[in-house]
Amino acid sequence: MKYIEEFQDPELARRLLDDIHATVTRPWALMEVCGGQTHTIIRHGIDQLLPDQVELIHGPGCPVCVTPLEVIDKALEIASRPDVIFCSFGDMLRVPGTGRDLFQVRSEGGDVRVVYSPLDALKIARQNPGKEVVFFGIGFETTAPPNAMTVHQARKLGIRNFSLLVSHVRVPPAIEAIMQSPSCRVQGFLAAGHVCSVMGMGEYPGLAARHRVPIVVTGFEPLDILEGVRHAVRQLERGEHTVDNAYARAVRPEGNPAAIAMLEDVFEVTDRAWRGIGVIPDSGWRLSERYREHDAEHRFSVTDITTREPAECRSGEVLQGLIKPNQCEAFGTTCTPRNPLGATMVSSEGACAAYYLYRRLDLTPVRATDPIARTAPLEASPVV
Ligand code: SF4
Repeated sequence: MKYIEEFQDPELARRLLDDIHATVTRPWALMEVCGGQTHTIIRHGIDQLLPDQVELIHGPGCPVCVTPLEVIDKALEIASRPDVIFCSFGDMLRVPGTGRDLFQVRSEGGDVRVVYSPLDALKIARQNPGKEVVFFGIGFETTAPPNAMTVHQARKLGIRNFSLLVSHVRVPPAIEAIMQSPSCRVQGFLAAGHVCSVMGMGEYPGLAARHRVPIVVTGFEPLDILEGVRHAVRQLERGEHTVDNAYARAVRPEGNPAAIAMLEDVFEVTDRAWRGIGVIPDSGWRLSERYREHDAEHRFSVTDITTREPAECRSGEVLQGLIKPNQCEAFGTTCTPRNPLGATMVSSEGACAAYYLYRRLDLTPVRATDPIARTAPLEASPVV
């Protein structure tokens, strides 16, 4: 299968691994930003094949995981209203809010529907003029353009009963925040290739220079990850800190100008809270003034939300790469994909889900008495 099997070739993987082993002379810590990359690494055991000196740290690149609790609770509140049809991708229905999730709202009579595209939600709005149709717009630079385009279409077609509950986030400010944290150990980044296929690479040279970290734009197949690690390790060993594109088959330096133009038309940059992490300046988008009538938060004026994170969930630390999932006491015991305490166990891109799916039989969960527990308190990070 073109563009998949070629990037899973074991012989090529062995050669890349040999090259990395031959290059490394010192310990290096690299962060893969995207949850899709994390799943490839854990599924194929790439972290175990690399030299002991190369540590892969899992970053905050899962869109479901970083959607803040307050927005989940707003979704629950809006979806509970009798005049609303609430549309979402399936992953979001199981993400715990304060005390319940969207599945529970549906079981209590709420009209909550799973759709496969924001345009499906727009179609539902056209078919149900007597209802308010809300689409849950979450995710990074990859999912924001189609959501922007759908709002643009709604306005153009005069569909006034359609709105977006927006929780879009931007990757470069998150990298900036991670590097500014005093607890940060990251020395290089494997940047998310799909994000760069939309936004290009323009924001990365400044980040690499400011923080003296190599940034390698990387794809999602096993050879992509190994190639990204090879580029990053080579730079680190040479004392370099530039931006490399190791995913040139999908990423152009300028990105996708049509998608960027759509984003700039519909959204404006804003500060955004990341679940378990806190507010990161300029790290999100909201609908611009021109499209305000399609903003669900504006339309439903959801206020007086009191949030309560489950005390035992350490997903904030997982998302910042401060702990590995199995260093959470609840991993595989009180927290499993069937009974998740946090979004990082719910999402198909979540790091806790990856460890549970591919590693749980090899790992021993940390107990409260083990010394590693609570060694990296979330409060230590200025990202919060
Ligand atoms: S294992 Fe569960 S409780 Fe622990 S950090 Fe992950 S999602 Fe949260």
